[in-house]
Amino acid sequence: MEIKMKNEFPLTKEEELDEFYDDEETLNEKIQKLIQLIKESKHCVFFTGAGISISSGIPDLMSPNGLLGSRRKRELRLKEKEFWKWKPSLTHLGILELMKKKIVKYLITINLDALHMRSGVPFNKMSELHGNTNMEYCTKCGTKFFRLFKTRNALKKNLHLTGRKCDYCGGDLMDSTINYDEKLPEEAYRLAEENCEKADLVVVWGSSLRISPANSLPSKSVEKGNGKLVMINLQKTHKDKYASLLVRAKSDDVMKRLLKEFGLEVDIWRDKLIDFILEQNEKKEKKENKENKESKENKENKENKENLELRISDSSDSSDSSDSN
Ligand SMILES: [Zn+2]
Repeated sequence: MEIKMKNEFPLTKEEELDEFYDDEETLNEKIQKLIQLIKESKHCVFFTGAGISISSGIPDLMSPNGLLGSRRKRELRLKEKEFWKWKPSLTHLGILELMKKKIVKYLITINLDALHMRSGVPFNKMSELHGNTNMEYCTKCGTKFFRLFKTRNALKKNLHLTGRKCDYCGGDLMDSTINYDEKLPEEAYRLAEENCEKADLVVVWGSSLRISPANSLPSKSVEKGNGKLVMINLQKTHKDKYASLLVRAKSDDVMKRLLKEFGLEVDIWRDKLIDFILEQNEKKEKKENKENKESKENKENKENKENLELRISDSSDSSDSSDSN
C-alpha cells in the first residue's frame, strides 16, 4: 500500500480565496445538530488540520493568508524559531476536555505543531500522521526524546538525522516530521485507519483534506455505510459530498459553543512538553547515577578482590615461612 504523503488536490488561485461563513442563526442550528450527532455516537473520532492552529499564531498553507507564497514560507521559518511561544488554541484545549470525558474516543491530526501533545492528549489516544516538531527518536533503540526546540535541522527530503545521539545507547537520533513523498509512520497510520473504520462519527476540524493518504481516512466509514462525517472548515473540500453536516465558522467559535452546550470548561493550560522533558531528564539522571554507583561498586569490588588476593598471598607467604621454620 502506498502510504507516502502527497498533495492530492493542489489549490487553484480562486479556491485559495474562497472562504465561507455561516450566519449566526445557521451556525447555532448546525451546532445543535453537531451536538446531537456527537451524543448519538458510540465511537466518535476527531480529525484535525492546520485550521485549528491558526488562532495559536501558526499560519496554515491553504487559507487566504496561508503559506502558498515563498514570502509567507520564509515568515513561517522565522516564526518557527520561536515556535515554543505558540500555545494551544481553545479548540486544542476543548478537544482535550471532550477526550477526558470520553465524548471523543480517538484523535487523528495532520498537524506537526505538537499542540495536541502539549495540551495533554495522551499518545495512545492519538495518531500524529505527519509527525511532531518537538520529538526526535533513536534509530537504534527507538527511545523518544522531547525538545523545547524544533528537532528538524536537515534541509533535504528523506534526510532526518539531527546530529544528536541517544542518551541510552548512543544511537543516531532522527526528527519525526514527514515531508511530501515520504512515508507516514506505519503504526500511527494503522491506528488512525482502524479508528476511522470503527467510527460511527468522524468530525474533520480545520482541514481541507488535500494531503493523501490522510485525506482518505475520515470518509472511510461513511463510504462503507457505517458512519457519519462532519466537516468544520471555512473552505470547500473534495470530501464535502460525504458529509452529513458542513459547518462554516472559525474553529474556536465552534468550540466555544460546543463546550457551552456540553457544560464543559477548559482547564488552565499546563505545557505537557515541559513534563515530558522533566521526566526524560530525571530518567537520564537516574541512569547516570546507577552507572556511577555500578562503576563505584565495580571499583570497590576490584579493590576488595585485590586486597583479598594480597591477604591470601600474605598468609601463604607466612605459612611458607612457618613451614620453613
Ligand atoms: Zn537509543
